[in-house]
Amino acid sequence: MKEVRLENVTKSYDGVSLAIPGISLVCVRGEMLALLGPSGCGKSTTLKMIAGIESISDGAIFFDDTDVSDLDTASRNVAMVFEDYALYPHLTVFDNIAFPLSIRGKPKAEISERVERLLKLLGLRDISGEKVQQLSGGAQQRVSIGRALVREPDLIMFDEPLSHLDSDQKVQLRTEIKRLQQTSKLTSVLVTHDQNEAISMADRIAVMDKGVLQQVDTPSAIYNQPANIFVASFIGEPPMNMLEGTYAGAESQPRIRFAAQCDFTAAEQVWSQLDQRGDGAALVIGIRPEDVQVNPAQATPGRAAPGRATLLLSGRVYAHEPGGDSDVVTVDTPIGRIVAEAPAPLLLAAGDSVELGLEPTHFHYFCKVTGRNLLLETA
Ligand code: ADP
Repeated sequence: MKEVRLENVTKSYDGVSLAIPGISLVCVRGEMLALLGPSGCGKSTTLKMIAGIESISDGAIFFDDTDVSDLDTASRNVAMVFEDYALYPHLTVFDNIAFPLSIRGKPKAEISERVERLLKLLGLRDISGEKVQQLSGGAQQRVSIGRALVREPDLIMFDEPLSHLDSDQKVQLRTEIKRLQQTSKLTSVLVTHDQNEAISMADRIAVMDKGVLQQVDTPSAIYNQPANIFVASFIGEPPMNMLEGTYAGAESQPRIRFAAQCDFTAAEQVWSQLDQRGDGAALVIGIRPEDVQVNPAQATPGRAAPGRATLLLSGRVYAHEPGGDSDVVTVDTPIGRIVAEAPAPLLLAAGDSVELGLEPTHFHYFCKVTGRNLLLETA
């Protein structure tokens, strides 16, 4: 397996519109790197450029120290696993996995040894003689992973590999792929639009929007320290609440005002960043739904209660969606609509009065102008 490195790679399809204005990215040897983003953000284009299916317009792609930018797909030794399996339905499991070797005229003994090893690794031994068309989607996808690995590729690329599976099989295969990737130390690129897939499978996630990398980091860093408003809004279900506020810096402690009647002391970590921006700076305050306390009683807006969250807001329930172990409740407050996720059961109905408790040290502070997370801004 090899390290894959993109250096200032650009792609324009018709010579005019830039699908990828310039991307630099490393997939370290043995890691799974996910390319995650909404439809049209450039995931497939990036994947195809790495695989050699699409040419690059500028920049360079390296596999270890070799510049592969001008090599065709066949010369790159990249294996692909697609969402629709792309198997030969009338061939057996064994023959599908063996196919890339038999077509290259490899000796029978070598084919048999390599295929047997993969059948064992992928838990397919018992069904090796069955035709793949008889198998479940999950089993078919395991066969296509076997077929990808049998050539001993330098890189394996998973293109939305779980999209066609029902939810049980999705979770099961997700675990299987992750285990296989870790135990066999496969250098892997995963393309997905599904944040759960990226978070649960990848070592690192490259979040893309409009052809531009927004953040490349571990799943936990992406979730807990999102680089900007796009990443913060894209990752997390239900999405992060985004509330507009203004910095009121002239007082003894830096405060942020949501509305005339509602302000709070900013978390200490962002004080210096706020000071640099100056009084009146426009901010976006991000609050994860699970960081919002839901209390049935009503209280005075903006006033703290001892031993509880620092900022209290009265509101009226707009919608309540019961879940398994947590409920999602949407509340209209004087500073806007806020979504909270709290341990179930919340005995609430639309129209009920509630009090929300917010803790500013759990907030994410973004500059409204640049969209950047203040905590990650360099001074
Ligand atoms: P994703 O995989 O994230 O959905 P794509 O890589 O398919 O995104 O697309 C990125 C951008 O490139 C989009 O604006 C898309 O319309 C454009 N694009 C993709 N393929 C082609 C193509 N063959 N010709 C012209 N434009 C394309």
